Amino acid sequence: MKRVVIIGGGPAGLMAAAQLLKSDCEILILDQKASVGRKFLVAGDGGFNLTHSETPSEFRDKYDSDWIKQTIRQFSNKDFIRFLKLLGIETKIGSSGKIFPEDELKPIQVLNAWKEYLEPKVQFVLNARFLNFDEKQVEIEREGKTEKIDFDYLVLALGGKSWPVTGSDGAWTTVFEQKGIALNPFEASNSGLVLYENWLGDLEGKILKNIRTSCGNQSCSGDLVCTSYGLEGKPAYAINGALRKMEKPVFKVDLKPQMALEKVFEVLKKAKNPSQGLKELKLGEVAVFWIKNFVSKERFLNPKELAKVIKEFPIGIKGFRPIDEVISCAGGVADTEISEFGELHQFPNVFVAGEMIDWDAPTGGYLIQGCVSSGYVAGKRISKQMIN
Ligand SMILES: Cc1cc2nc3c(=O)[nH]c(=O)nc-3n(C[C@H](O)[C@H](O)[C@H](O)COP(=O)(O)OP(=O)(O)OC[C@H]3O[C@@H](n4cnc5c(N)ncnc54)[C@H](O)[C@@H]3O)c2cc1C
Repeated sequence: MKRVVIIGGGPAGLMAAAQLLKSDCEILILDQKASVGRKFLVAGDGGFNLTHSETPSEFRDKYDSDWIKQTIRQFSNKDFIRFLKLLGIETKIGSSGKIFPEDELKPIQVLNAWKEYLEPKVQFVLNARFLNFDEKQVEIEREGKTEKIDFDYLVLALGGKSWPVTGSDGAWTTVFEQKGIALNPFEASNSGLVLYENWLGDLEGKILKNIRTSCGNQSCSGDLVCTSYGLEGKPAYAINGALRKMEKPVFKVDLKPQMALEKVFEVLKKAKNPSQGLKELKLGEVAVFWIKNFVSKERFLNPKELAKVIKEFPIGIKGFRPIDEVISCAGGVADTEISEFGELHQFPNVFVAGEMIDWDAPTGGYLIQGCVSSGYVAGKRISKQMIN
């Protein structure tokens, strides 16, 4: 009987295993932690959105690489919802279009249902650390000893580098580098934005409500939260990709997205003075602090110029938060190293899946979906190859 070894029990590895249940093979899932799915559980901590209900093209547009887009084509948000149903997890669409489990199910309940679905066929080997691999064997460390396990197919779903406490510590990169497999450096993604000190004022904890950020071709509406170092929140995370490409990263905030430029101008023109105009526009404390500190006197006193600046307020950033703290990372195995199914060109029958591959997407269900879609294509490909 063929043996498939999967290393990494996150959404990518678990989905690869699920595609092999009907195949005549032995399936092992190894993980260095004492339990699987730790980052999946963390992801569920603040609003457990598993994927998003957008139309296929809107949905795929959220991803930055053609490689990941084609995996989403093969296993879409709808397919993932169907898969969850198979596990007994009904889903619902939230007001923002995000997909959540019904009945306020907790992340651990979803993970347990997934594990129960796999358990009749899959053997979980925990506290087993991946060390190396070649064409036929994978080397691991368990209970202080190293051992080699033979495989017919190997799926590496070792995750990225953020939140290493969950097990995805990026240590596997050394092994890949030694083998000459091209990697793009890991960079913080879905990260808070670090601002220059003079932008922070006494704003910690204050919220910039209902604004819209934009940078390059990325933009996002919502609230930004001021922290001791800068800004957190979806509108900050969503523009990370575009900011990373800039030598001197600057983004724009529309401080009044509900009002067209002409209307903002009208309000300012009619107001007794610019400060009164800002009050009438109900811009809030953070916006007023920034405008008063960073807009030149001439622009401030000119309603047309002030209206323009309110609609396109520029903010330069100092950088991103450390990778350890952020939701996800860009970088990882370059897609030039793999087939459309994630099979390494250099090592036939060895597949990679999930966040260890270089692709990026905003938080909000797109990351988990990217991981399960890439796990799906690897698992499906292996099951087909075993028949042939
Ligand atoms: C705070 C936070 C919030 C998030 N929120 C969301 C969200 O709202 N929506 C969303 O879509 N996504 C979210 N995510 C991201 C999502 O959780 C990840 O994208 C996803 O879990 C990655 O799946 P993966 O299977 O590729 O890797 P992981 O889930 O990281 O799993 C990798 C596994 O490999 C194991 N491993 C690593 N190295 C070794 C080794 N050497 N030996 C053995 N085992 C090893 C690890 O122990 C781990 O179990 C969030 C993440 C965080 C940290």
